[in-house]
Amino acid sequence: NLIDEAVQRSSHVYPVVSPIGADGDRPQSYDVMVVGAGFAGAIMAERLARDAGKRVLVVDKRPHVAGNAYDRLDDAGILIHQYGPHIFHTNSADIFEYLSQFTEWRGYEHRVLAAVGDRLVPMPINRTTVNSLYHLDLRTEEEAAAFLASRAEPVDIVRTSEDVVISAVGRELYETFFQGYTRKQWGMDPSELDKSVTSRVPTRTNTDDRYFTDTYQAMPRDGFTHMFERMLDHPNIDLLLGVDFTEVRQAYPHQHLVFTGPIDEYFGYCYGKLPYRSLHFRHETVDQEQFQPVAVVNYPSEDVPHTRITEYKHLTGQTAPRTSITYEYPSGEGDPYYPIPRAENQALFKRYEALALAQPDVSFVGRLATYRYYNMDQVAGQALATYRRLKQRWDADRQP
Ligand code: FAD
Ligand code: UDP
Repeated sequence: NLIDEAVQRSSHVYPVVSPIGADGDRPQSYDVMVVGAGFAGAIMAERLARDAGKRVLVVDKRPHVAGNAYDRLDDAGILIHQYGPHIFHTNSADIFEYLSQFTEWRGYEHRVLAAVGDRLVPMPINRTTVNSLYHLDLRTEEEAAAFLASRAEPVDIVRTSEDVVISAVGRELYETFFQGYTRKQWGMDPSELDKSVTSRVPTRTNTDDRYFTDTYQAMPRDGFTHMFERMLDHPNIDLLLGVDFTEVRQAYPHQHLVFTGPIDEYFGYCYGKLPYRSLHFRHETVDQEQFQPVAVVNYPSEDVPHTRITEYKHLTGQTAPRTSITYEYPSGEGDPYYPIPRAENQALFKRYEALALAQPDVSFVGRLATYRYYNMDQVAGQALATYRRLKQRWDADRQP
């Protein structure tokens, strides 16, 4: 029986989380079924169970919790990220404090280098990048700003991901760092993508070489998976892993559903498929202590198929004689990882969103269900806000 198999899988993988039927006493129904055990689903489940006292069943089709943030020890004993590098950063004290209930942290500031020819230069573009590429000696922010301004091309209305970069640094730096990378990553030219995509990466005139400037920058000390296990370790939460929710939604009646998978899939693709971009990951352990000087090296050139290589030891601070790395190869096929920010996709999403709004007994939360290119902290914030609204509504419904 499919469900019993999944129960066994769940209890085998996560003895810490009470799987359904572990005590032979499987509930007949739940207050809430949560689809997905990533940031969106796990936070909703935790709040519903701990704060609202609801009986919650979390279902995930993958054989593990943590969604795309899932990490695990590989054969070399290195903590690797199965679905590509996940670096936690936020400006929200509330979100950081909330997650701190479930993990200790290891302070970590992310640094990225871009491979240009046989050189590695800081990314985002900063004064060091410019000095290095153009053999200059710009010493002040004013000098760097003047240099970039002399290269920048004015754009009347910044609409696309090409406009953003060209208007800030000009065509040459755009082609060197952004055009090839973006074409590989998204399978389309930056001119076809919303400005929000390349706007994620700033341009600097100082020598700050951190990828992020957020107030809180840290990695869960024992990994994301461990943090999720603690979040879901509650007597009111049962967990069913390795099962698609369509296979169990009838078997476990529930008052409310939280859905964190792709919204178009939920509605049976009735308006057609929403485009998502996927990646293939090549995980490798190499027989050397260090592979590259920083955690991530970006490869903007279209001469190589991968976009970036991650070396995990930089994230974890682990020491070992060997080191583990991951290559990322963008792909049109595979798991949906990235919603693709474009006006026409947003318009299609809005049609699905209208269907979602007409279903008060289902909450759509997370990167796939709300079709937003969100970081982990943004998904966390969205889930906490969704929970608060739901609780208010239930409280109001109980008033005479
Ligand atoms: P997910 O983590 O995707 O979880 C959804 C879960 O739902 C999945 O586990 C899936 O198996 C399950 N599911 C879907 N459909 C069904 C179904 N029908 N039945 C059962 N289960 C189902 N963010 C950062 O802040 N910093 C980073 O450095 C960073 N790097 C990233 C790198 C990559 C390569 C990617 C792809 C994303 C990165 N992110 C990063 C974004 C981060 O992954 C997301 O913000 C976050 O994981 C989204 O959480 P979620 O719960 O919305 O979705
Ligand atoms: N980007 C780029 N070159 C780089 C880094 C980023 O062209 O060296 C563009 C690319 O389109 C990418 C986007 O900026 O998808 C956002 O970059 P980010 O590092 O935030 O991507 P993520 O970590 O979400 O994959």
